[in-house]
Amino acid sequence: AKGAGRNTLSFFDPEMQVRLQARARLEADLRLALPREELLLHYQPQVACHGEVVGVEALVRWEHPERGRVSPGEFIPLAEENRLIVAIGAWVLESACRQLARWVADPARRHLTLAVNVSPRQFREADFVERVVAILEATRAPAERLKLEVTESLFLEERDEARAKMLRLREHGVRFSLDDFGTGYSSLAYLKRLPLDQLKIDQSFVRDLLDDETSAAIVASIIALAESLELEVVAEGVETEAQRDWLLAHGCTRYQGYLFGRPGPLAELPLPATG
Ligand code: C2E
Ligand code: CA
Ligand code: CA
Ligand code: CA
Repeated sequence: AKGAGRNTLSFFDPEMQVRLQARARLEADLRLALPREELLLHYQPQVACHGEVVGVEALVRWEHPERGRVSPGEFIPLAEENRLIVAIGAWVLESACRQLARWVADPARRHLTLAVNVSPRQFREADFVERVVAILEATRAPAERLKLEVTESLFLEERDEARAKMLRLREHGVRFSLDDFGTGYSSLAYLKRLPLDQLKIDQSFVRDLLDDETSAAIVASIIALAESLELEVVAEGVETEAQRDWLLAHGCTRYQGYLFGRPGPLAELPLPATG
């Protein structure tokens, strides 16, 4: 009938065919990325009001042998769909925790928190909590310096399960940040029930802050909300001093963005040399 005809058409659509093939190739390559050690972490500083580095966010990079650097914006969604994110996420967490453990012995670094992105698919795995705890134990990383960045989409379904997992990790000392805040659908009432430590203002609002009254109003509200819920608040995507000054004047206490440092290898962090 009509529906079947349309399906047949799109199946033989040559452009679609090319796109599907490219995607299948990328997927096959991504499967090999871990065993071939093509993934690496970059680190971006997070600073407090006077510009002092108080933490870093780990951001995964894929060095593809032919394509060069493939952006996480491209391969993370793919990894989410085919479940590779579980293995990739475990690798990211373990690599980050190994770093965190090394910093304990370094007076210039032992105060730093390390933020790691956790994708919903990874978090929803039945043994997520056990995996994190096992990695903390194996690496001897200080749990209270680890901050897991989760997104609001986690709480759309299975809220109680998500909350229970967070509470269990919280008992081990692990902290939580709500990433891309303002872009999702969290009910504000629910925020209070989650063991959160931090809200991260999405960079789209920060980018438009000075040109768009709505963005400015949203950012001001998020800062006020964080304050009243006693949560730390980080503005991400801060690129200019004018944005920083506005945020500072409105009570923001943590900043991340190109103005303070791009994601890069550890050696490029604006910190004193390792002692
Ligand atoms: P995100 O967690 O929101 O990370 C912030 C993104 O903004 C990073 O892009 C960072 O490089 C970029 N950024 C930081 N400061 C600025 C700025 O001042 N201006 C602009 N224009 N951009 C800035 P990146 O590294 O390409 O990562 C993109 C997304 O991929 C991340 O967004 C996150 O959702 C995902 N991702 C990255 N690493 C991981 C990971 O290890 N695990 C998971 N699950 N997701 C990851
Ligand atoms: Ca993040
Ligand atoms: Ca973000
Ligand atoms: Ca994002």
